[in-house]
Amino acid sequence: MDKYNLDTLCVQAGYSPKTGESRIPTICQSTTFFYGDSQAMADCFDLKSDGYFYSRLENPTVAAFEGKVAALDGGVAAVGCASGMSAVTLAALTIAGAGDNVLCSQAVYGGTFNLFGTTMPKLGIECRFFDPDDSAEDIEKLIDDKTKFIIAETIANPSIVVLDFDKIAGIAKKHKLVFMVDNTLATPILCRPKEFGADIVLYSTSKYIEGHAAALGGMIVDCGTFNFKDNPRYPSFNVPDESYHGLVYADLAVPFGTKCRAQLIRDTGAIMAPMNAYLSYLGCDTLALRMERHSENAKKVAAFLAKHPKVAWVKHASLPDNKYHALAEKYLPKGQGGMMSFGIDGDIEKCRTFMEALKLITQETHVADVRSCVLHPASTTHRQLSEHELEMAGVPQNLVRLSVGIENADDIIADLDGALKKI
Ligand SMILES: *Cc1c(COP(=O)(O)O)cnc(C)c1O
Repeated sequence: MDKYNLDTLCVQAGYSPKTGESRIPTICQSTTFFYGDSQAMADCFDLKSDGYFYSRLENPTVAAFEGKVAALDGGVAAVGCASGMSAVTLAALTIAGAGDNVLCSQAVYGGTFNLFGTTMPKLGIECRFFDPDDSAEDIEKLIDDKTKFIIAETIANPSIVVLDFDKIAGIAKKHKLVFMVDNTLATPILCRPKEFGADIVLYSTSKYIEGHAAALGGMIVDCGTFNFKDNPRYPSFNVPDESYHGLVYADLAVPFGTKCRAQLIRDTGAIMAPMNAYLSYLGCDTLALRMERHSENAKKVAAFLAKHPKVAWVKHASLPDNKYHALAEKYLPKGQGGMMSFGIDGDIEKCRTFMEALKLITQETHVADVRSCVLHPASTTHRQLSEHELEMAGVPQNLVRLSVGIENADDIIADLDGALKKI
């Protein structure tokens, strides 16, 4: 499959039926699997042979979707999780534990910010946030021998900061550190993080990958690029896992993915549901087409808003004067996706008037599906954050997050124009 282009992989990768089998994956709604003899089952448990034994660890429908996303990212394996947040959590816990620290970009999704800022410290994992615009030297100062990984988003949600891959990958390589990238808003169609030095790629598949706002899901892709063997940062990959028959993960072809499944998926049970995997697999068929249209539409909408007198500022990397335009030309040349943010020229009250005047574009917590939607983070998703934290996360009070869908661009623009006139 690897030799095919991305749009081909979208529709063909992950599942190929044998004679007489269904053309698309079936929803394998079974917790458990039959084995005629106990040795065959024991071999599965020992990871000596492929096969399913319990859907908390692996399931055929989930495997089809995992195979598709792994192929799209050029990874060696993928692990389907219950949601994007569980993917970020399980990826972190696969390598970090009490006494360790991690480096996280401060321009990340609100849920990820809370996870690393509040919940991980309760488990003894310290998070050192960095400003993605800081110099490599400044970011490096945060690293010590207890640092386990660096994490950032390709296109940050909702601040729309574009990741400087070379800068962060350079730091990670120099310190032999795992580099994790949350690629949710770019998808492998617009950017393949592996090509720019990422070792682990994370997704909320609930967004563009599934595309229809029908199913929650998360994915952890092991790019197979990181050499854990004898790296003193990662003893848990180099000593036998007594909870898994003495397996030494660093010796495997899929070290991270196997450890994640064998330990974290096993122990937390946060695997993707078969029904969600089925919907996501189908949704992903059209990912390449949709990302093209999202990007085209967003480019037109951003150009319209940038000229509008009631709009104070617009952030979309397609705009030539955007701070991240040059990075987008380098890492997102095929399009910058449908997510943007803009500032209403006025206070929270004006933001509210604007949003309530929209007719086609609806107010939603969700982003990145086929339908255009808006959100005012300061009064909704980010309302737990203090004013200082809002600034740190790049979310000022007048910020409106707009997820441009795949409707006709003229209709989207007309709706925005009508609502802006009401302010
Ligand atoms: C939505 C999102 C998440 C969380 O995903 P869920 O599927 O909602 O749990 C994580 N990262 C990014 C960048 C997101 O946009």
